Amino acid sequence: MRFSRLRLNGFKSFVDPTDLVIDDGLTGVVGPNGCGKSNLLEALRWVMGENRPTAMRGGGMEDVIFAGAATRPARNHAEVTLSIDNAERLAPAAFNDADTLEIIRRITRDLGSAYRLNGREVRARDVQMLFADASTGSQSPALVRQGQIAELINAKPTARRRILEEAAGISGLYQRRHEAELKLKGAEQNLARVDDVVEQQAAQLATLARQARTAARYREIGESLRAAEGLLLWLRWNAAETMRGAAEEELREMAQAAARADGLAGKAVETRAAAEAALPNSNDRPSITNEIEPVGFVRIAIH
Ligand code: ATP
Repeated sequence: MRFSRLRLNGFKSFVDPTDLVIDDGLTGVVGPNGCGKSNLLEALRWVMGENRPTAMRGGGMEDVIFAGAATRPARNHAEVTLSIDNAERLAPAAFNDADTLEIIRRITRDLGSAYRLNGREVRARDVQMLFADASTGSQSPALVRQGQIAELINAKPTARRRILEEAAGISGLYQRRHEAELKLKGAEQNLARVDDVVEQQAAQLATLARQARTAARYREIGESLRAAEGLLLWLRWNAAETMRGAAEEELREMAQAAARADGLAGKAVETRAAAEAALPNSNDRPSITNEIEPVGFVRIAIH
């Protein structure tokens, strides 16, 4: 992978479309102070995904948009296109199907940045990853700004380590490791949440088991109650049936007694009639009256 062209349009002092062609061999930019040499390096960092306005020598990212000059109005957007020669097909697998990679970053006021890779919209992270895998990037020590050589000479061991890691081509791995660590952390947090949920579910399960036991006991008691009520009703019915039998028996006996009394009364009437017939016709004979009671009993009174 080799940078072959950098095109700036509305980026800082490059208000008109400007191409910086990077051919084989060394490419140099020569110009007086303030002509925009550092802006070119910043454009390169920016298109590779730089997100720190300070790295662009600005207060906000929109400061990279051409701010206007005495003779030209300000622009509303800035765009930088980086063309990469990928003839050797050394780009990361996801982007390795073309001979040339064209990465475009465009910033519009109030809308922020958008990236395109070979015409396809991509995320900033995809672009950063592409360069990290190629062991370069917006913060690569290979991009040396003014005064940086002196800084490198006096660099701390960690900064030197970054340079060595990049030379070894493992910066992408570090980037991926960082992302993997973030994902792992996310997964751990998710696991902790799942543990919480499992704990809550276990508590709920215990409550439900208790309720299920109570319901089973309730059903059991209900069934026993229904059986007891059935038995009680049968006992009451049985007692009533026995009483009914006894009452019927008593009624039958009373009816028989009444029949017997009727028979006796009939006989008494006959006896009286016979006795009256046998009596002489006399006035001082004792009078016999009888009163027959409505129920059929005969009361005999002798006066
Ligand atoms: P030096 O050699 O002093 O470092 P240089 O050639 O690197 O200078 P730069 O610092 O890249 O030049 O460019 C600075 C120029 O860019 C200044 O003239 C500044 O006015 C101009 N500039 C920076 N930002 C913008 C912007 N947003 N709009 C218009 N011009 C800008």
